[in-house]
Amino acid sequence: QSKLARAQAMEDARTQDGKALNVYANLASLEDAQQALCHGAEGVGLVRSEFLFMDSEQAPSEQSQYESYAQIAAAFGDKPVIIRTLDIGGDKPLAYLQQGGEDNPFLGCRGLRLCLQNVEVFKVQLNALLRARAKSPNLQIMFPMVSTMEELNQAKYLLNGCYEALQDSGIPAAMPEIGIMIEVPAAVANARQLAKEVSFFSVGTNDLTQYVMAADRGNDRVSYLVSAAQPAVLRMIEQAAQAAHEAGITIGICGEMAGDPKLTAALIGMGIDELSMSSNRIAAVKQAVRATESKLAEQTAGKVLNAATLKQVMSLL
Ligand code: PEP
Ligand code: MG
Repeated sequence: QSKLARAQAMEDARTQDGKALNVYANLASLEDAQQALCHGAEGVGLVRSEFLFMDSEQAPSEQSQYESYAQIAAAFGDKPVIIRTLDIGGDKPLAYLQQGGEDNPFLGCRGLRLCLQNVEVFKVQLNALLRARAKSPNLQIMFPMVSTMEELNQAKYLLNGCYEALQDSGIPAAMPEIGIMIEVPAAVANARQLAKEVSFFSVGTNDLTQYVMAADRGNDRVSYLVSAAQPAVLRMIEQAAQAAHEAGITIGICGEMAGDPKLTAALIGMGIDELSMSSNRIAAVKQAVRATESKLAEQTAGKVLNAATLKQVMSLL
């Protein structure tokens, strides 16, 4: 990386007419945090907290989770750090938590569903997050795989219960801003209602794509369907963006598509406020932001949202 390229990566990303887009990093380990800062991340749009759970035989203790969350959040100073609660199941099995034996794990008990069925494990994580938030006001949390309002309400109810219990015990705790992942088609359909109850949306396009297209994200035989640039997926993203903005909340994307500079202008044009990606994509996406202009981005978005085929979308980009 040349000195100039590195300097540009560290600067924030604005379109030619001065509109800022937040370019964040996805993290799956403590080491990723330093990497992300070196690559110019303006915050963290997704901490995959699973990494703390995958490497051990049992769930990590509240104290060790607290230390990890606080450490990651502190590394970013006052930049936002969004920690996703445990997202196990589907392609991320975990022996000590899952019952196993599901015919369709991707349609089964995964993500928030699994946490709501293992409340004791979930509460340990929520306590750790509430305590870390007391130290780091930049820490936010989000729930994965939300499908219904009831699930969101249950998760918030548990979080509130943990918060009150910590306060009663005199343990420092603070309530973070709460967001949800939009990665189940039902959440898109329910987006207007859900948006009233959270501070932000983050679209998980990896899962949203497989669920919208009914095509396993790991199955080569249907990989031609598994593209977040499919017109059907783009329209779902746009629908979620409209619902978010109607409710006055922000919307980001933390699936792989966020790191594809070919898509940046179209996503800006749809009203996406934040893109979160692997650190090594940040420089290229920031360049793509700087190369575009709001009106032009809106036009591009309008065109791709009217496209009939993936091929048409790709040729428009
Ligand atoms: C997604 O589904 O797009 C996402 C970001 O989450 P994960 O890839 O961890 O399922
Ligand atoms: Mg996902």
